[in-house]
Amino acid sequence: MRITAVETFVLTNRHALVKVSTDEGVAGWGECTLENWVRTVAAAVERMTDHLLGANPLRITALWQTLARGGFYRGGPVLSSAVAGLDQALWDIKGRWHGVPVHELLGGPTRDSARIYAHANASDRTGDPRRAREHAAAGITLIKVAPQHQIGFLESPDPMLADLAAVREAVGGSVDIGLDLHGRSSVPQSRRLLPLLAPLGIAFVEEPLRPEHSDQLGSLVNCSPVPLAVGERLYSRTDFRRVLEAGVAIVQPDLSHAGGITECFRIATQAETYDAQIAPHSPIGPVALAACLQLAFARTELLRPGTVPEPAPRPERHHLDPHRLRPAHTSRRPPTPTDRPRPRHRGERGRRTLRRQPRPTRTRVTDLELPRRQFRRMVRKHRVSVSDFHLQPQHRRQSTDPSRDE
Ligand SMILES: [Mg+2]
Repeated sequence: MRITAVETFVLTNRHALVKVSTDEGVAGWGECTLENWVRTVAAAVERMTDHLLGANPLRITALWQTLARGGFYRGGPVLSSAVAGLDQALWDIKGRWHGVPVHELLGGPTRDSARIYAHANASDRTGDPRRAREHAAAGITLIKVAPQHQIGFLESPDPMLADLAAVREAVGGSVDIGLDLHGRSSVPQSRRLLPLLAPLGIAFVEEPLRPEHSDQLGSLVNCSPVPLAVGERLYSRTDFRRVLEAGVAIVQPDLSHAGGITECFRIATQAETYDAQIAPHSPIGPVALAACLQLAFARTELLRPGTVPEPAPRPERHHLDPHRLRPAHTSRRPPTPTDRPRPRHRGERGRRTLRRQPRPTRTRVTDLELPRRQFRRMVRKHRVSVSDFHLQPQHRRQSTDPSRDE
């Protein structure tokens, strides 16, 4: 299989898609969005196309290394977002080619459902209790709120604490609330605010400082009784290593900014070594959300992985009989309906019937209903429809050398 074309589609200033086509008729889609910089990222994708045309799209790691680490200038929001969109498209091709969802290729599902959160923001204060109550009634168990203004250096935290208390009262004690400060709070102001949040049962505080001040994260971790989360403006394992060493509890790589599924899978592995969890950041569009869900189903470090089943109890072992030694455990391929039963002795051939084996548990489709509803809302919000994909692409590069297509 060879890549024959790479196309970018700029739909809004917060939404761009990339399509990678192959000579086998399989095409993959990715979301190469950097909000308000979509055309810049599309230009970066165009620049990277030379490395892709004629290449085997199934060699994702090799292509990722070339795109992300093959040049003199690496990383950063623009280049990492371009790599991220292309990486999503390559995983999409691989999944379609093998006929399985991407999480199967990443090691198989680790859960039957993935937890999601919903925003309950108001225009004039921190959180809207009415929206929070609606989300809780719809079954959302984690709600995120954010202040809508730049927090003053000497601003009193009391109004924000009152707003958060109203949201807590609206949803009750069983719903988690996350506070996203969007880096709008200075380090001294966050140091003042964080210890006051504990009585409100805030589950985590996101971006309590701007990324350029990440070297001061450790001081906030030390003064905060609430777990801290950062990551939507970090772009590589190197970036995340620094904040993990500072002691953050939750990392939030954005699959359209931090090198795609390939790099974010590695970041999740890295987080595991620091006893941290991941909450993939997904505010962009439907393809990015689909990529987030694939990672969420493949990793155990997803924020509050309460749906990971307990292992089945082990069967009792046989007593050790030196004359009849039996293995304590044997791994065998489970029988299939086409297997013939093995007779115990002559004369029994064909008399035993094959006992039906229990079917393996499959991922419940109903668990994806909420993400699907959110998916459809996002499609409506961004006014994307299938027909939009027939728009003239912003950029299209096609392989011109027939020898590279073979
Ligand atoms: Mg955020």
